Amino acid sequence: MCTKKKLCNIKGISEAKVDKIKEVAVKVSGDKAFLTALEYAEQRKTCFRISTGSHDLDMLLGGGLESMAISEAFGEFRTGKTQLSHTLCVTAQLPGANGYTGGKVIFIDTENTFRPDRLRSIADRFNLDQEAVLDNVLYARAYTSEHQFELLDFVAAKFHEEMGVFKLLVVDSIMALFRVDFSGRGELADRQQKLAQMLSRLQKISEEYNVAIFITNQMTADPGATMSFQADPKKPIGGHILAHASTTRISLRKGRGELRIAKIYDSPDLPENEATFAITGGGIADAKE
Ligand code: ATP
Ligand code: MG
Repeated sequence: MCTKKKLCNIKGISEAKVDKIKEVAVKVSGDKAFLTALEYAEQRKTCFRISTGSHDLDMLLGGGLESMAISEAFGEFRTGKTQLSHTLCVTAQLPGANGYTGGKVIFIDTENTFRPDRLRSIADRFNLDQEAVLDNVLYARAYTSEHQFELLDFVAAKFHEEMGVFKLLVVDSIMALFRVDFSGRGELADRQQKLAQMLSRLQKISEEYNVAIFITNQMTADPGATMSFQADPKKPIGGHILAHASTTRISLRKGRGELRIAKIYDSPDLPENEATFAITGGGIADAKE
């Protein structure tokens, strides 16, 4: 068996491409308020997709995790949110469809559940050099919601400094620290305001630097649900602020054993379908029939 591991040497991109990204950045940051639909379509052509490691889940998402957008996965504990976050750190480095070259990743961990060893196992599955894969992921642990927000300055600076090199930002999970820092009922308005600022920053970063943003979220019992006949009286936390910030939301739930079911919860252009995937040693993969 061929055991030669592929090195993920992620290099910078051509000057022409840097110019293109800067041009888009200028437009996004407001120097030019209006684009023609044709210009906008041109801009969206630079959009790419990152595979989740599962073909079925990719199909559900319309080809994988989309750049220039925030994608959110929410679900109860052990539904695979962190495993999916880890898998994306590796698959983002692989070349993909439509000339996607692969790129580096920034991972913001708010729950202390990031494990480099998981990246090693996932790298093995794709026959990639472990050290090279780990070297392409920048990791930061956030300790407070304020700290989490401040880290975004660093993220933007890094994306700017190495234009076009980074393709993915993971925040696992987006709400955990907000939940702790603003726990009182009276603090809800404050929390939502801070959250809105952070999400708007994230959205801007995703468009300005053409990166995919993947956030995970927890769930809570929905007190209003007892009044209705909902099958699953749980909902993602973060309220309308988060609901409107995430372009695509998927809910995850447990299936038999290692199987998990993903459902499109909210998307501007995807139908409300489901896909089943598996959590394996090598990360997220297709469920075997
Ligand atoms: P939480 O809300 O607690 O953060 P989560 O949705 O992030 O939960 P994960 O940590 O992604 O959950 O998933 C945990 C699941 O992944 C467990 O069922 C566990 O068995 C499985 N898992 C973890 N590591 C491995 C591995 N190396 N091989 C196979 N399955 C694994
Ligand atoms: Mg987790």
